[in-house]
Amino acid sequence: MSYDTVIRGGTVVTAGDSIVADIGIKGETIAAIGLGLDSARVIDATGLLVLPGGIDSHCHVEQLEADGSIHEETFATAARSAFAGGTTTLIPFSPQFKGEPIAAHARDYAARAARSPIDYTLHQIITDPTEAVLLEELPAVVARGTRSLKMFLTYDPFHVTDGEYLDVLAAAKRLGAMVCVHCENYDAIRWRSKALLRAGHLEPASHALSRPRVVEREATHRAIALAELVDQPIHIFHVSCGEVAEEIARAQARGVKVTGETCPQYLVLTAAEMARPGREGAKFMCSPSLRDAGDAEGLWAAIRAGTLDIISSDHCGYSFEGPHGKAISGADADFTRIPNGVPGLAARMAITFSEGVAKGRISVNDFVKLTATTPARRFGLYGRKGSVAPGFDADLVLWDASRCMTLTNVLMQHAIDYSPYEGLSVTGWPVLTMARGQVVMEEGVVTFAGRRGCFLPADPSPDAKPRSIVPDGFDAALVS
Ligand SMILES: [Zn+2]
Repeated sequence: MSYDTVIRGGTVVTAGDSIVADIGIKGETIAAIGLGLDSARVIDATGLLVLPGGIDSHCHVEQLEADGSIHEETFATAARSAFAGGTTTLIPFSPQFKGEPIAAHARDYAARAARSPIDYTLHQIITDPTEAVLLEELPAVVARGTRSLKMFLTYDPFHVTDGEYLDVLAAAKRLGAMVCVHCENYDAIRWRSKALLRAGHLEPASHALSRPRVVEREATHRAIALAELVDQPIHIFHVSCGEVAEEIARAQARGVKVTGETCPQYLVLTAAEMARPGREGAKFMCSPSLRDAGDAEGLWAAIRAGTLDIISSDHCGYSFEGPHGKAISGADADFTRIPNGVPGLAARMAITFSEGVAKGRISVNDFVKLTATTPARRFGLYGRKGSVAPGFDADLVLWDASRCMTLTNVLMQHAIDYSPYEGLSVTGWPVLTMARGQVVMEEGVVTFAGRRGCFLPADPSPDAKPRSIVPDGFDAALVS
């Protein structure tokens, strides 16, 4: 057997194993894993880990917002940043706005995504689940290979009522789709925010005060309880603290199919950053809010227990300078008018490895599970993405577990003009990224001229399969 490329002598890491082996690649896929494989083109991986390319299952790329603005991170710049950080698959969001059908923006977003240099699949945001959306549009969305729906329980103008949420859960159950939820209490945040503004607390640090942990915990509990009522599996996005993870653990202990993720910002940053002088604090505004020192340990405990099983970036890029970024409402805008979100595409893998593996909190196999294997399984990509095995795409990262780096915005290689992680020291760094057999990053130099990413139609996810247990035996979801 001859191979186009052999990656030789690295420690191949999957969710279950770590073994020293060569990887034989033919075309775009892994053809063999073994010893003594040969090829005219050999990449020496001695002393390095060979990991499956990262899958960032929650990131906002070139997304249209309700005010007509478009996220600064394009598919081209997102690909550059992702490859730089060892990520080879993205799952961004196709939008829907209230008063409009899904179709109003689906074609436009699909066209933008079609220019993506990095492989991707999509989540579909649902903000206005009319009967036409539920009965006509959603079946078509799923038929096109988008099997994950996202809902916001807060945010103007995205949030859905409990009734609308139930309707989408029921539709997802009928269609075999996963449902992802942004859990915060809409009215509680509005009530707190109004009081903060009346009291003259306009600065970025007030963002944390407008949405304390209990606001997220209440919405998480409600999202889970209603999903239990419908018998529809859900995935909780961006869990910020252990107190919220406890709600998920309690439901899991009852057998409810609910999963959760967290993001690097909640593992290494705290709300104190928002109190930086001037407007600097705006760089650290995201929702749910950053919490306090000590909250990260609660998250790690939940990760080790399996309660939280994905680490995504929730990359949401708004530059600090310029009229379209954090200052879109003016330099003196109060905290409610500053866009939420922090960029993290390139930092996700390194921070997770450094805080998790290098600091002894998780194994390297757990790292692979959190950043690649479980996102692939949950969102219907497994079999092609998410592991190192024959038949899988040759999406691979050569990882130097002992290299120490100090994160800078330049290293992130994104379109955003800052990184919230500027100055953070990490141990462990990607030295080479391969996407479907093509080297797209080596020692920080990203090259993918003319590359076309694939749209990956999602398969039905085992995690989205209902339990067939509904309260009192009456399955209301079947009555559409
Ligand atoms: Zn998000």
